Amino acid sequence: MTTTIDTSTLLDWISRFRDAVTEKREWLTELDSAIGDADHGANMTRGMAAVVEKLDGGAPATIDELLKTVGMTLVSSVGGASGPLYGTLFLRMGMAAGAVEQVDSAGLAAALRAGLDGIVARGKAEAGDKTLFDAMAPAVDAFDVAVAREIPIADAARGAADAAAAGRDATLPLVARKGRASYLGERSAGHLDPGAASMAILFETLAAAIAGAS
Ligand code: ADP
Ligand code: MG
Repeated sequence: MTTTIDTSTLLDWISRFRDAVTEKREWLTELDSAIGDADHGANMTRGMAAVVEKLDGGAPATIDELLKTVGMTLVSSVGGASGPLYGTLFLRMGMAAGAVEQVDSAGLAAALRAGLDGIVARGKAEAGDKTLFDAMAPAVDAFDVAVAREIPIADAARGAADAAAAGRDATLPLVARKGRASYLGERSAGHLDPGAASMAILFETLAAAIAGAS
């Protein structure tokens, strides 16, 4: 069973995320058509296609280079809120990991935490605002707790994915307080947040990539 994450596992994660958002494009668009402008599926699909194309020649040698490439490509290829937010997530993860070839579970936990902090610095979302934060924050918390308990990294990632999915589902009754959906006020309640839905996919594919590396 793997105890570290290297650039090839991260590359596998990125490619799985591209595949999954492409496969779920219609659903993400439907969610965004209910409380936004119906472009979240297109935004994520376009952004991740650009990322995979950029990384076509193989993974950069170090984790920071890999994740910074992902982040910069998302920022530059996706208009709309999700590009800068997901872009910042990957940029901050890369900066936190540094110029290393692999990280252990504590290193991945610190990188994910830095990514979450970057999203907050950029978008100012708080818990319950009905954003992608509501899927990511519980996932990062669950991962931290699992790592502190010395739970194997694949199980920690599985738990984080489950927490992200629960966080996504918990956005259903919320009234949006950030982003386009907030313009709807009370009418935003009763719909899942599209960004929380794509964020749960991000953690699901991370768990799958780590399980695949085991
Ligand atoms: P846009 O809203 O510009 O059309 P997308 O549709 O791609 O961009 O992404 C919408 C998602 O972005 C929302 O569902 C929400 O999860 C997320 N989002 C919007 N604003 C913020 C914010 N300030 N902080 C965190 N997430 C946000
Ligand atoms: Mg949108």
